[in-house]
Order: sequence, then structure tokens, then C-alpha cells
Amino acid sequence: MASDFITNWNNYPLAKSNVSSPVLAEDFSAQLSIGSPFIVRGNGRCYGDASLAPSVTSTLKFNRIIYFDDRKGIITCESGLLLTDILDVIMPRGWFLPVTPGTRFITVGGAVASDVHGKNHHKDGSFSQHVLSLKILTPKGDVIYCNASENSEYFWFTCGGMGLTGIILEVTFSLKKIETGYIRQVQIKSGGLDEVLDLFEQYGHYTYSVAWIDCLKTGSDFGRSILMLGEHATVPELNGARHAFPKKSSTLSVPFYFPSFVLNGLSVKAFNSVFYGKNYKKEMHSMATCESFFYPLDAILHWNRIYGKRGFVQYQFVIPKERGKEGVRNILNRISSKGWGSFLAVLKLFGTQQGPISFNMEGYTLALDIPINDKLFSFLDELDLMVKDYGGRIYLTKDARMKPEIFHSTYPNASNFVSFLNKVDPEKKIVSLLSRRLEIK
Ligand SMILES: Cc1cc2nc3c(=O)[nH]c(=O)nc-3n(C[C@H](O)[C@H](O)[C@H](O)COP(=O)(O)OP(=O)(O)OC[C@H]3O[C@@H](n4cnc5c(N)ncnc54)[C@H](O)[C@@H]3O)c2cc1C
Repeated sequence: MASDFITNWNNYPLAKSNVSSPVLAEDFSAQLSIGSPFIVRGNGRCYGDASLAPSVTSTLKFNRIIYFDDRKGIITCESGLLLTDILDVIMPRGWFLPVTPGTRFITVGGAVASDVHGKNHHKDGSFSQHVLSLKILTPKGDVIYCNASENSEYFWFTCGGMGLTGIILEVTFSLKKIETGYIRQVQIKSGGLDEVLDLFEQYGHYTYSVAWIDCLKTGSDFGRSILMLGEHATVPELNGARHAFPKKSSTLSVPFYFPSFVLNGLSVKAFNSVFYGKNYKKEMHSMATCESFFYPLDAILHWNRIYGKRGFVQYQFVIPKERGKEGVRNILNRISSKGWGSFLAVLKLFGTQQGPISFNMEGYTLALDIPINDKLFSFLDELDLMVKDYGGRIYLTKDARMKPEIFHSTYPNASNFVSFLNKVDPEKKIVSLLSRRLEIK
């Protein structure tokens, strides 16, 4: 077992951990029987401390496909398999992930434990809604199977349960049928926040929708945005001009951590102006590869290094639909007035949600990256209170600093979750920095 400093995607916090990397399911059982507390880690793509602890068990070597029915579109795989490796197998056979986050470099175990959402939550829900069965090694050492109807309490508290209910060993889930590896994309420029929120409603029939927001603009341009809509393209829509499944494109890499002065308000403003200016027409139609539509950031490996060694926070909250417009407007206003920029402010519309502990709820969600500075955390504490007042909550997989009282008062099933964890893990064998910080375990 190697002892090392590890950190997740946002480079904060840094944790000294003993990391083991089991290859077989029996190795996970052996880890449990040793008795010292640990947390399971996928590919470390969360933004915070959810998969950090003094002792960490990585699933990255536990990554085989066990079963793939390419007629029905059903796959079973070990939890450490990356979505990118699943896509390599399923796409040429005409299938796609039912739900995918903005990076394909996460494990399927991580997708379940965070109950991730994509650009289609308003239509297709979150990842858990497509899971047919989970095989879990419980903290007591039992192997159980569960889904929405069998062992359903275990299932629902595992989806979005941030790895605290046990080790997800295998995931069986259904796939989405596609004819091509392309997305028919529409980009609509909007002059302000109210307009883009209305556009989400107007174009709610599109399967995929997401808006990029320039969160540094104030005054009449406040909240200017590009709404991106998409549908999987059919073969006739390609007009014979392209091969149905394109080759993967090459990637660039950020070679080192940028010094902190590189990312100041001016450089963010310049980036945002270029991005917004690029969409010179009010509405643009184009054909995008799935890769560029779903994973634009994956084209630059290690892009997290541009925020410097001190790291950054991704602040993602959701506000229920009834108060969503007002809430997003006021919180964004507060952030814009600070001028602490973000290249990325991403707005999405969520539909209804089933899981009791999942982050997602019907409403609007905004995510933005902010480099860490001395005053940031007290400012975010203020924003947390605004989110709470609007009936919203903060995404655990993106969190590294929320106070426990905010978690317990904004997640309506927090106390049921804690009681469930006390029942299934009375000896507290599975704990993370997040579960300690938020007083969950
Ligand atoms: C560029 C980028 C874009 C993103 N976009 C989105 C997005 O659009 N939507 C979204 O929802 N998320 C998004 N995310 C967040 C990411 O999808 C989640 O944090 C995901 O859980 C990371 O998976 P991972 O395999 O890296 O797991 P880790 O980050 O290592 O762990 C995340 C959580 O999963 C648990 N876990 C992992 N494997 C297991 C297992 N086998 N058993 C039990 N628990 C386990 C860990 O304990 C931890 O609590 C994005 C992240 C990045 C870096």
C-alpha cells in the first residue's frame, strides 16, 4: 500500500493517504476485514473531499466489462471502468450512455455514487434512473444486489450516497440507441439571464440543453449566454457527407500549474468576450461530434492546472423551479458584483428526481469555477444561505467546504440517510473527509 498526497480534480484539499488498488472483488472484502476506515475512490474527478480519506481504496484496476447485450443495449461492468472505455465499446455498435456528465473520465461507480446528471436531466433524469441492478459489498461484508424495486432502500441511498453505503462492485444499466456519433446542434445567443431562462422553457422539447453564461457581465448585458441544444443525428441527417461514427480527436495538455496571476478578472473577461463573440449569429445550426458536444473540456487534458496549485472550487447549486429564476438571478448578481471570474458558468434545467439523497431536483442548476483566495470561503458561506433561503441545495460531489448545518438543513432526507448509514455501517468502516466534515459519519 503506497502512502501519498492525493487530491481531486479541483486540487483542494490535499490529503495524505494510503492508497490500495484491488483487482478482484475478494481484495475489497479483505480491505474491509482489516477494520481501519477507508473510502472508495474512482478516478478522482469529483471537486472536493468525497473520495479522500487517510485510507483510500481505488477501483481503477477493477474495470472489466462482464456482460454486454448489444441487441437490447444492456451492459454490466465492474465499478472502476471509465465511461470513456465503455463508449469505445458501445458507440461503434450503435449505443450511447443514457446520461453522461461533462467528462468521460469518470468511473461507472463514481457515476452511481454521485448520481450524476447530464444535459438531458429534464428529459431522462439522472444516471440512477437507468440502473437495472447494483452489486454492493456492504460495510458488514455481505454482497447484495439491489435496484429500484429489490432492496430499494439500499439502492436509493447508494445512488447519490457518495460511497458511504458500501463498495459498489458491479453496475448493470441500460443504454441509449443511436444511429450516428453526431449531434445535431443549435446554438442560440441570448442577451441576458431572463431571456436564456425563458429559452430553456421554450426549447424544453430538445433532449439536450445547457447554457454557458458570462458571469462577469453586469448592467444590461447581465447574464448574457449561449444556449446549446442537441439531438442525436440520424444517418439521413448526415447526408452521406460523413462516416456515421467519427474517429476520436487528439487532445492537448496543460503541462504545469499556472501561476495565480494568469487567471485574473481581465483574462476571464477576455476569454468570455471571445467565446460570446464567436457565436456571431443569433442562432447557429451545426453538426457536432458526440465528443465535442458532451466533453468539450476533455480536449485539454489537465485543464484544472490553469487555476494554479492553490486550486479552485466548483460551486454548483440547484434552486427549485418555482423560485429558480429569481434565485439564480440574485445569486449570480452577487457573484458578478464580486468579479471573481469563472471561465465556466454552466446553467442547466433539471426535471423531476427520484433518489432521496441525490442532489438533483426539479429546477435550475448553476455551476461555476472560482479560484481559491483568502476571502472565498466566507463569501461562499453567504451564498449557501441564499441557496438555502430559496429552498435549494449544493452538489456534494462538487463541494469541499460547505458547513454541516447547511447540508443537514437543505437535503430533506439527510437525517434518514444518517440513520440508514448507522444501521448498515455501525462500526463506521467507510468514512471520507466529506462524511466527517458534514457530520454524516
Ligand atoms: C470536467 C468535469 C465535468 C463534470 N461534469 C459533471 C456533470 O455534468 N454532471 C455531474 O453530475 N457531475 C459532473 N462532474 C462530476 C463527476 O461526474 C463526479 O464527481 C463523479 O462522481 C466522479 O467520478 P469518479 O469516478 O472520478 O469518482 P471519484 O471522484 O473518485 O469519487 C466520487 C464519489 O464516488 C464514490 N465512489 C467512486 N467509486 C465508487 C464505488 N465503486 N463504490 C462506492 N462509491 C464509489 C467516492 O467515494 C466519492 O464519494 C464533472 C467532473 C469534471 C472533472
